[in-house]
Amino acid sequence: MATLRAFFALFCLTAVLGLPMAQARDLVLGVFAYRPKPVTQARYQPLVDYLNEQIQGHRIILQPLTQAELEQRLEEGTLDLIFTNPSHFVLLRQRSRLTGAIATLVELESGVPASALGGVVLAPMGREDIRTLTDLKGKRLAIPGYAFLGGYQTQAYELLLRGVRLPEDAQLEVFGSHDGVVHALLRGQADAGFVRSGIMESMIRDGSLPPDRLKVVSPQAHQGFPFAVSTRLYPEWPFAALPHVDERTIRQIARALLNIESDSDLARAMNIHGFTVPGDYLPVENLARGLRLPPFEGAPDFTPGDVIQRYPVQISLGLAVAAIILMLAGGFYLSRRRLKLASQELARLSRHNALLLNSAGEGIYGVDHAGHITFINPAALAMLGYELDEVLGKRAHRLFHARRPDGSDYPDTECPLEKVLQDGVRREMEEVFTRKNGETFHVSLVATAMTDDARQLGAEVVFQDITRRKAMEHELNRLASTDALTGCANRRHFMEQLDMELSRIRRYANPGALLMMDLDHFKLVNDTYGHPAGDAVLVAFVQAVQSSLRKMDMLGRLGGEEFAVLLPETSLEAAGRLAERLRAKVEALSVEFQDHAIRVTVSIGVAALRNDSTAVDEVLSQGDAALYRAKESGRNRVVQYQPNS
Ligand code: GH3
Ligand code: MG
Ligand code: MG
Repeated sequence: MATLRAFFALFCLTAVLGLPMAQARDLVLGVFAYRPKPVTQARYQPLVDYLNEQIQGHRIILQPLTQAELEQRLEEGTLDLIFTNPSHFVLLRQRSRLTGAIATLVELESGVPASALGGVVLAPMGREDIRTLTDLKGKRLAIPGYAFLGGYQTQAYELLLRGVRLPEDAQLEVFGSHDGVVHALLRGQADAGFVRSGIMESMIRDGSLPPDRLKVVSPQAHQGFPFAVSTRLYPEWPFAALPHVDERTIRQIARALLNIESDSDLARAMNIHGFTVPGDYLPVENLARGLRLPPFEGAPDFTPGDVIQRYPVQISLGLAVAAIILMLAGGFYLSRRRLKLASQELARLSRHNALLLNSAGEGIYGVDHAGHITFINPAALAMLGYELDEVLGKRAHRLFHARRPDGSDYPDTECPLEKVLQDGVRREMEEVFTRKNGETFHVSLVATAMTDDARQLGAEVVFQDITRRKAMEHELNRLASTDALTGCANRRHFMEQLDMELSRIRRYANPGALLMMDLDHFKLVNDTYGHPAGDAVLVAFVQAVQSSLRKMDMLGRLGGEEFAVLLPETSLEAAGRLAERLRAKVEALSVEFQDHAIRVTVSIGVAALRNDSTAVDEVLSQGDAALYRAKESGRNRVVQYQPNS
């Protein structure tokens, strides 16, 4: 009794003090407020309201914060979820233990969806002297500001990779905004200018930039990207969760984000297209590293290229020492003692360098011109499961890179890392490495040639283990394409597959068919047995249908109790026979739910996919028309689409 009273008193006290007891279940979402906080609050509150409708067990609370506040809150451990810009995300990821992004924003750039951004270099149309990025050396360049990812950093990084260092190698002038840069160019106040992808198109569209005045310098082709761009692409804002947030909640949030439809009120209110599976933020990190942006302002000198540029003498010396030792050892066989000697020599090369190599979180190793390992850092050894003396002098390719990502063997001649040794071209890619114990893991890597007066000395490889990211990508892709209740394809995924099948049919003139299905009097099931019973029926229905389909067929839930089946390589007659089998199977189905045996029937419309079927909508409406006739003529039956009915 006394405890009860004490508890009651505590309860009253908490209530009086305004500390709600359910606080423990609240998740705080910190959103970077690059505009005034009330504006940010108003923009993201609809998203938070939507998430709160979609997830169970937690309530999300929105907190617009400046970058500094976000960092402080992370340090205090009072944040659970984060939504911020890519460069800030990379900074936070380095400083605290953020998990990976769980989704990436798809922006609407003047009406066009884009989940990535890049930098554009603009120059007046007639400037024949400015054709490539290296032509910008020594020129007057207009920029919106140094902190702009798309308006400065992307271009500066691209230039850096081509040997032009900003701000030293040009005259930069800050104009405060992207529009300011364009106007400065139009007024002849600069030789060239930097803006973010999408700005030029939007200004041309609204008439503030005549289409023939400016040109894009060094345009790059990126498949599926809707804007002109002079740089590589970087993913848009990530939505990330901290490691302490439980897996189930993360899935729920990810699924809710991925399921935002572009034509929904929410997407319209936020002026976005939606969210997609998380982009790869490694390029943002590489850029920050290259440009010495925080958190890499401490100049970690191990970035590819820097090592060579800063320590050409030491590196040549080191390689020479390694080569001599290798030669002394007969080139093939090195005694343990000599290997130790070699590593000691190499470690002495540059204490600074070694320190950085040793403390780096990424795996880093170097190979000579024939692909033999000359140095390797502890992080790389830990990931690969080797000791130092087991790898020095060995062919990296044979030792841990002998398999392709698909599991097949990698012939030496096709190894992309060895190609770097031949052509000197820097490569960024995702590959698979094999540990000493035979396990494989996915890596994201950058391979850079080390050259000295145009001679190939070897190459340096910086890599990260991305197994977790890969698994997450896979899981999120699955989540984004399946229906939560029944596990079959969701509407969006089904529509995409139908669209792809239609284009295949147009190309190859194969037959194909579509079934539209709607459960009969389903409302009655809910009304009689309750909604959970209805759910159980939907699950059983999907199982029954799935088990009668081939691997290549696809069942999708279009909404409520409406489903569709895509049947590639199937004639209209065969589709009709299958539909009849499915109808009979559902009729015979009895769903056990809490002592009830629930029976349902289904009506099915059948439509052919022909090579003159132009659009998904047309095929769907034919299926719908047939389904409607099936309902109209008594339900529990199959009707084929007739053009003239
Ligand atoms: P008809 O034969 O004309 O198709 O009759 P019907 O009762 O099936 O008609 P209608 O399509 O209008 O009703 C569909 C019902 O399905 C209404 C809705 O409550 C129910 N429903 C939709 N989605 C779900 C769900 O996820 N679970 C459950 N249990 N019921 C759902
Ligand atoms: Mg129905
Ligand atoms: Mg219906």
